[in-house]
Amino acid sequence: MAQDLVTRFAPSPTGFLHIGGARTALFNWLYARGRGGKFLLRIEDTDRARSTPEATQAILDGLAWLGLDHDGEPISQFARADRHAEVANQLLAEGKAYKCFSTQDEIAAFRDAARAEGRSTLFHSPWRDADPVTFPDLPYVVRIKAPQDGETVIRDQVQGDVTIRNDQLDDMVMLRADGTPVYMLAVVVDDHDMGVTHVIRGDDHLNNAARQMMIYDAMGWDVPTWAHIPLIHGADGKKLSKRHGALGAQEYQAMGYPAAGMRNYLARLGWSHGDDEFFTDAQAKEWFDLGGIGKSPARFDVKKLENLCGQHMAQADDAALQHEIIAFLAAAGLPAITISRQDGLRAALPYVKERSKTFPELLDKAHFILTERPIAPDDKAAKALDPVSRGILSQLTPHLRTVRWERDALEAVLNDFAAAQDTKFGKLAGPLRAALAGRAVTPSVFDMMLVLGREETLARLEEAAA
Ligand code: GLU
Repeated sequence: MAQDLVTRFAPSPTGFLHIGGARTALFNWLYARGRGGKFLLRIEDTDRARSTPEATQAILDGLAWLGLDHDGEPISQFARADRHAEVANQLLAEGKAYKCFSTQDEIAAFRDAARAEGRSTLFHSPWRDADPVTFPDLPYVVRIKAPQDGETVIRDQVQGDVTIRNDQLDDMVMLRADGTPVYMLAVVVDDHDMGVTHVIRGDDHLNNAARQMMIYDAMGWDVPTWAHIPLIHGADGKKLSKRHGALGAQEYQAMGYPAAGMRNYLARLGWSHGDDEFFTDAQAKEWFDLGGIGKSPARFDVKKLENLCGQHMAQADDAALQHEIIAFLAAAGLPAITISRQDGLRAALPYVKERSKTFPELLDKAHFILTERPIAPDDKAAKALDPVSRGILSQLTPHLRTVRWERDALEAVLNDFAAAQDTKFGKLAGPLRAALAGRAVTPSVFDMMLVLGREETLARLEEAAA
């Protein structure tokens, strides 16, 4: 039933949230959110040597930036070690697991002999069916009794039915000699206890699924629906690596990509809904299904990401966009926009959000409103303010004092003025850009005049003409 649907994201906190992890989280989030289910977060921190609180924080920050909210508190896998051991001990008590006293040397010797005889090197413990009276007073591990014949079938929603011969499965260790549970046991117990119904994760875990199924079967637990998604490759078809550019979700945040565009792009990375490229979160939640996940690795394509980000930026609600820009500056460690300039930015957004792919691009377009008099022209702009141009600007300003401050009226005034000067508006544009923004490349002169307002426009023109 839909209300029982539970997905989870289970990152190992050994580094930042990488693009592949972000996509896995997104798929699980979309699937749950689109079906009235729950999306849970489990931090797989059992590897004490490699797990760090900083990495956990980086993952939480990355998810927060992407807007992938989870239900309830994040669960620490390490904190549940006693429960994992309890399950292993239950299987031991039920005779579905056994104590194995074989030493590392004995296992190595077994493998050497098997190799020499051309047999499978899969370890067969002599303790599997041993009589407890023969148990030595020595350290032991707890192994599950793997099925010895037949097959295990993983009914995967992406890969199809994946069949593994059971004689390929060894009696996996569940508890180490020091009593600590292994990762494979922890995952199954946690997924079961958390009520996870759908496991959507990278296909690098497909092999684990067969081993994890042994535990589900031994405990008599329902196996979740699996969906193992192909990993992400670079544009060249090779496994995504540093040489393909940024790998961390937060690097994309720091570069100023809007989260909505990133979500849209990541959703398209390995999943499709017909030919739809651009879509909203609401559409993604409605459309996302496991059947739409492709079987071959998706290729990361920065151009597509930028294109989608540009479309989301152009369509964004101005207040929300303003909010995101301010958050971006803080996250990127860039100077904040002073309160007094925030209103100006807000007024400029409708004119500068088109054709910007990132926040820095947008802010660059908005430079004219974020800067203050005296406007310091850059080299190119300074050239546009030669004495002749300055003279023209000073003749122009009186015409702007009384004109209706609307686009059509401003266009008419400037065109008439240009005609009277026996020139084209295009010739006026350079000096106007230089005077209004201090730059040669700016948004349209009329957009800037409308955003700046009459007083500020006149003040800048007069200052430049002087
Ligand atoms: N912790 C694993 C990883 O980060 C995920 C395990 C799982 O999803 O079952 O790759």
